[in-house]
Amino acid sequence: MNIHEYQAKAVLAQYGVAVPQGKVAFTVEEAVANARELGGQGVVKAQIHAGGRGKAGGVKLARSLAEVEQHARELLGKTLVTHQTGPEGKVVKRLLIEQLTAIQKEYYIGVVVDRSAGRVVMMASAEGGMEIEEVAAQHPEKIFRETIDPAVGLLPYQARNLAFAMEIPAPLVNKAVRFMQGLYQCFVEKDCSIAEINPLVTTADGEVLALDAKLNFDDNALYRHPDILELRDLDEEDPKEIEASKFGLSYIALDGNIGCMVNGAGLAMATMDTIKYYGGEPANFLDVGGGASEEKVTEAFKIILSDPKVRGILVNIFGGIMKCDVIANGVVAAARQVGLDKPLVVRLEGTNVELGKKILNESGLQIVAADSLADAAQRIVSLV
Ligand code: GDP
Ligand code: MN
Repeated sequence: MNIHEYQAKAVLAQYGVAVPQGKVAFTVEEAVANARELGGQGVVKAQIHAGGRGKAGGVKLARSLAEVEQHARELLGKTLVTHQTGPEGKVVKRLLIEQLTAIQKEYYIGVVVDRSAGRVVMMASAEGGMEIEEVAAQHPEKIFRETIDPAVGLLPYQARNLAFAMEIPAPLVNKAVRFMQGLYQCFVEKDCSIAEINPLVTTADGEVLALDAKLNFDDNALYRHPDILELRDLDEEDPKEIEASKFGLSYIALDGNIGCMVNGAGLAMATMDTIKYYGGEPANFLDVGGGASEEKVTEAFKIILSDPKVRGILVNIFGGIMKCDVIANGVVAAARQVGLDKPLVVRLEGTNVELGKKILNESGLQIVAADSLADAAQRIVSLV
């Protein structure tokens, strides 16, 4: 789960991470009132769940209340298109009004789970403020890393290593170390999957501040963080994904036109790979889970079909916990209920597979029962 920048800054501040003073605004009036509290000027920042706002015109410096009002009026309700929003962009509904910061230099700090090391890694770079993916691709030597032992946490010498490597001015190294330790503590205690500060800045008056903040949380751990769950903003999420989560379906929308319904995340990945191998593009990732009931299958069909890009569906289900004939009956009933009018290819494997195929073939519906994953993928690609 993602949260907004202003929320992430509030969470980080609980861990002693220094952030500029600021407050959220939902209206132009609130924006002006917030700026008045800051002495009549401030930065007006669009709050959407995507980065790249600066380049897209979503971060504006205002020297007067009139300028704050003008920027707030322009940004609220605007669809901001950044390199992270996709071409459809995101509508700005909240603003962060923040004190102006006299930036000396911008840096980058990120905390991620390194799956190959099986540990949390803190990354730092003096190339802050820009797209870190570009730095990583073109100048990997400019990104410094410390792998953290979970038994002892981020040790002071590791934080100092990073501070020295990215050339934080010597008098500010201790502040940078405290910053990194707070950031790491927050990452671990709140079960983050990503914590990214881009930029971290040093200022003319000797501060080390998080000028931007992105926190992403592990959904599986949210049950133990009710304070974080409260920060969820459904406006920022794909309505299809919200609907799927209500039924315990793991659904992620993609750009292609072949809807996929699969049980098991591994099989779902393999299915998407096979579709692509035969020249098709999956419209989604969808894992209906091990015990896919008829109700779940029906909901999954509805969600897949609510995507106007979908031109055909591939169902790939392994009947292990549930027998293939039960699944076939579920698929037929669901296809009838939603009035399916698009090509449907079904590949079943497992217990009672022959009976399952027979049910599909005799359903009177336009269902193609495929023999293998390769066969199924080729058929749906050619039908679509
Ligand atoms: P992003 O583009 O979505 O990542 O948004 P950021 O919060 O990182 O802001 C983008 C850029 O705006 C930063 O890299 C800064 O250069 C600039 N910026 C943000 N706040 C201030 C500020 O208080 N003063 C100045 N001078 N620049 C700022
Ligand atoms: Mn940023």
